[in-house]
Amino acid sequence: MRLQTVLELADALPPEVRPDLSPDPISALIPPERCSLEEYLEAFQVTVATLQTEEALERAAYELCEDAANENVIYMEIRFAPLLHTQLDLKPRDVVAAVLKGMHRAEADFPIRTGLILSALKPEGTERSIEAAQLAAQFFGKGVVGFDLAGPERSYPPQIHHEAVEFAHAAGLHVTIHAGEGCCPEQIKEAVDLGTERIGHGVYLFKNPATEDLVAERGIPLEVCPTSNLQISGLMETYADHPLKRYLDLGIKVTVNTDNRLMSQIDLTHELEAVTEAFDLTREELERILLTSAEAAFAEDRLKGELKEKIKAKFAD
Ligand SMILES: [Zn+2]
Repeated sequence: MRLQTVLELADALPPEVRPDLSPDPISALIPPERCSLEEYLEAFQVTVATLQTEEALERAAYELCEDAANENVIYMEIRFAPLLHTQLDLKPRDVVAAVLKGMHRAEADFPIRTGLILSALKPEGTERSIEAAQLAAQFFGKGVVGFDLAGPERSYPPQIHHEAVEFAHAAGLHVTIHAGEGCCPEQIKEAVDLGTERIGHGVYLFKNPATEDLVAERGIPLEVCPTSNLQISGLMETYADHPLKRYLDLGIKVTVNTDNRLMSQIDLTHELEAVTEAFDLTREELERILLTSAEAAFAEDRLKGELKEKIKAKFAD
């Protein structure tokens, strides 16, 4: 979300549901430069509180696409946890429909294509993760492309939600699972065993060489988010400490993503610049990362082909 939009939406809320922005909005919304995943997730209480109406959800989705298109993003997958947005009177399906409406309006206005991934939160009960997977299935083919498990890792291994993941697979949805973001390399293997097509973050993958080999061999892409990884993983002092370069050199498929543009105060251009500078990436390596992203997209083959052609044409230019 844009900071300005959060503030405007928060201001418009009745006092009894208005999020606490004390001592100041920046510290309520922007986690410290180094923090735990749990602390990082606290800032979501504010943004989620402002996104409880169809208008607010549609606006946030539209603005996100507009901002991404303005930095030349040609395809974006957005993910969020729809069941967090039913605090007032919205039904889960109204939540998803409002976000899709914003994305589709932006697709008509800007040169960007989009897909939506619905997340279930690991600490919640399995009935909630199954509900989120069912919701994703209802909108499959209407803009929702995949299902995801996200949230705190310690004490919440992805295996708990195997039923939701199996449901998503059976419904034909793509599946990605957050694993090894702030701890717990063993959960990456679990995610692979659950049939995940991509791994959210996977920062801790190198801690488990057998799983690292498996991820390389199966060609499972990592969704790397450099700044948020630096912030949360507890493993790095600078971008240059990110295992991303090791993964690239091992032939593991790496994609570069933003995680949270507001809370990490970055955009995709910043993230690509950060890793290019930290590792002195060549044009070929950067092109490979972008082509891997297109290939790993949860999109139809035809669209993926178009994305790859656009990337190749730009790099040839
Ligand atoms: Zn994430």
